[in-house]
Amino acid sequence: MKSIISLRDLEEMVRSGKDVRSLPNDALLTPSARDFLRDFEGNGAINGKSPAGNGEIRLRNSAPAKPVTSKSPKAEIDAYFNSPQIQQLKEQICDVGRRLWQRAYVDGNGGNIAVRVGEDIALCTPTLVSKGFMKPEDMCFVDLEGNQFCGEKKRTSEILMHLQIMKRQPRAVATVHCHPPYATGFAVAGVQPPTCMIPEYEVFSSVAIAPYRTPGTPEMGKLVADLVDKHNTILMANHGVVSWSHLSVEDAYFKMEILEAYCRTILVASQLGRPPNTMTPAQLQDLLKIKQSLGIPDPRIGLKECELCDNNEWRPGVACAIQPKSESTSSHDADAEAAVQAITDQIMSQMK
Ligand SMILES: [Zn+2]
Repeated sequence: MKSIISLRDLEEMVRSGKDVRSLPNDALLTPSARDFLRDFEGNGAINGKSPAGNGEIRLRNSAPAKPVTSKSPKAEIDAYFNSPQIQQLKEQICDVGRRLWQRAYVDGNGGNIAVRVGEDIALCTPTLVSKGFMKPEDMCFVDLEGNQFCGEKKRTSEILMHLQIMKRQPRAVATVHCHPPYATGFAVAGVQPPTCMIPEYEVFSSVAIAPYRTPGTPEMGKLVADLVDKHNTILMANHGVVSWSHLSVEDAYFKMEILEAYCRTILVASQLGRPPNTMTPAQLQDLLKIKQSLGIPDPRIGLKECELCDNNEWRPGVACAIQPKSESTSSHDADAEAAVQAITDQIMSQMK
């Protein structure tokens, strides 16, 4: 009988120092075991020795053998903080920071980034460092209350907002905060960007505005966190933008590119002397179906077409593309309207 090898079998072999390549030729691998072997070989780990030569095997993108939490012994937390897995994330954060700075989405030492790396641990950027010039060794480990336990530099003062997002939205694995000028312009004016104009924005972004509070305060974090159930990009009034992703820190950064490009484009469109064209509610429904299949939240998912494109706040006159109700209004609606009219007439006559 052929043996079926699972991921657990392979992990057990690695732990007990066996060579995972010495499996029987006719062994059948489960899909996760196959992924494990591919990562294992890609990492160059040979004969139970890691490429780093420290005798300990660590696989690319794999979690430590035992999950590390903020309650783990300090030595374990430090080892995790210095592991290849976390090193890779530190480099990704530096890369995203550089892109934020190059695109002028951050100014001075503004902006911050966090990645969840365990049940109650996040890796985050330091305070008082330009996001364009961070080094992997500048990063910090904090628990979900913001207490720092690893990293030479002090963690960002705005970490509480990132952590509140992660607590309220368990799917958030990464958060990015910055001050992109066009999107921040909307946040300063308190104007929600209009909808039904560009597919990219409809599919990948779900935007809401949080009221202004002093940056870094728990109150600010709470007001943002109140919105992250149905929105992945929050305009922070008179301040900037914060986004979260269920995939990666780069994906959280992409939300910024998409929002900023969108705000810039519609500002241009609004200056061309004609009301911008919008897609139809049916076309928007199609995009929302794609959005749902990608696991991206949107408060409009499940709404009727007539409720989809509410652009009331948008001053240059973006109108809903749905046709006004015709004669075929259902009798139920007609009855309701008649009742409302009767009550209104009654009230009006009493007021005379
Ligand atoms: Zn800020």
